[in-house]
Amino acid sequence: MSLPAPSLWLRELGRDRWRPQLDGSLEADVAIVGGGLSGLWTAHAVLDARPGASVVVLEAERVGWGASGRNGGWASALFPVSWGTVARSFGPEGARALRTRLVENLDEIEAALGDDAADVEWHRAGTVVAARSEEQWRQLVADVREEQALGLRDPGVLLDARGVRARLAIDGAVGGVFEPVCASVHPAKLVELLARRLEQRGGLVLERSRVHSGAPGVLVGVGGRVRASQVVWATESYSAAEPRWHRALAPVASQIIATAPLSAAQRERLGNPEAGLTFSDGRRLVIYGQLRADGRVIFGGRGAPYRFGSGVEFATEVGARMRLGLAATLAELLREAGPIEIEASWGGTIGVSRDWYPRVLHDPSERIVFVGGYAGDGVAMTRLAGQLAAAYATGVRLDPDLAVILGRPVRRWEPEPMRWLGVNVGLGLTRLGDALEGRPHAQRAVDVLRGAVLGR
Ligand SMILES: Cc1cc2nc3c(=O)[nH]c(=O)nc-3n(C[C@H](O)[C@H](O)[C@H](O)COP(=O)(O)OP(=O)(O)OC[C@H]3O[C@@H](n4cnc5c(N)ncnc54)[C@H](O)[C@@H]3O)c2cc1C
Repeated sequence: MSLPAPSLWLRELGRDRWRPQLDGSLEADVAIVGGGLSGLWTAHAVLDARPGASVVVLEAERVGWGASGRNGGWASALFPVSWGTVARSFGPEGARALRTRLVENLDEIEAALGDDAADVEWHRAGTVVAARSEEQWRQLVADVREEQALGLRDPGVLLDARGVRARLAIDGAVGGVFEPVCASVHPAKLVELLARRLEQRGGLVLERSRVHSGAPGVLVGVGGRVRASQVVWATESYSAAEPRWHRALAPVASQIIATAPLSAAQRERLGNPEAGLTFSDGRRLVIYGQLRADGRVIFGGRGAPYRFGSGVEFATEVGARMRLGLAATLAELLREAGPIEIEASWGGTIGVSRDWYPRVLHDPSERIVFVGGYAGDGVAMTRLAGQLAAAYATGVRLDPDLAVILGRPVRRWEPEPMRWLGVNVGLGLTRLGDALEGRPHAQRAVDVLRGAVLGR
């Protein structure tokens, strides 16, 4: 019997045995809630800092159940807040330091994967972002110029229409940007590898072990309790269920379709793109694609409405309208491939903070660390955030630049129904901005309004 698997990625793992459950009383130096990438990278970083420490990861379902086992597999150096905004808050040197850490992080992940890189389908093929209108082109040029002016490490490279086509025949591209600092990965294999390696290092990973906070340093579950010197919460979009984090992050849906493997002829018509290339275009409502080595295209997008009260499980099933919408967008982008068959779909939620900054927060009096809020850019960033969380939990190797940027005081989301209204109006304005392509004045007015509503 296979374990429940809410994504093609998790199904492909074919796991059929649960890890142990929390059963009785347990003591640990560091207890981590959430068996996704954040929790597992944090656990590894704790052991790097303090070899021999006792670490337990408690996962409510199975490892990778959340966004970590469902995502689009872009391991990137993207940050959810624009570089201009980061520079206004932390100075150009703050933006440069952050970008450099994000770039180095990717090299470090690759080095850490070592011989396992092929097993987790790690391909360092970069990302191509197509401009499919003059307005999108102007925006991409402005973004690259900003990266250059700030002196950011490895900025995007502008491509003309032929340059885009040479990488991937995206229909209607008038130009684009190539972002070299991006790899694609099989996310469920990555998260499973981290769990197995953690167990080999002496860490304990428990599944079907949902817990909630007790007194400081205590976690309570149905099967038992854990007493730890430090507790790390790494529950991302699920955090609203814990009263302490209730309005820290809004869960926003992101949903994916997977195609059947493209034929050799289809791939040729698309210009024989490199295996593992990731792609997108310059629209406002985020879309993202990955061309897997097996010929499948994994293609996702946002836009499904936010659920009142920060619910999450609704996003797992992709409704017929969303599935058709994603299929139509993909067919439009890769028109030259001809008909593309869709074989699977699934979804999940990303955790978005009120100002779109990810957070790593430490409350020494409560002996608690909170990590999360990647707003859809967490596949690689979870490692950096996990290192900072581990530094707080162990008291060693704190990265001061990261600590300042990710340690901003939390601005809470509004209570319901304002939160429901704000997020959904923001989504509507994002769509409207895209629909107003070719009408720059109206588009700018909508963008200003959207920025005010979404805090972005
Ligand atoms: C559809 C989709 C596509 C995405 N695509 C990309 C992409 O291409 N690139 C990118 O960089 N990012 C992407 N992201 C975002 C990225 O996947 C996340 O930022 C990242 O995986 C977050 O990892 P995490 O460990 O913090 O959270 P999660 O993976 O969500 O892990 C949290 C875990 O906590 C567990 N949990 C919750 N409550 C409890 C409790 N009380 N007790 C015990 N356990 C609990 C959950 O079961 C879950 O497994 C995408 C996200 C989605 C949903």
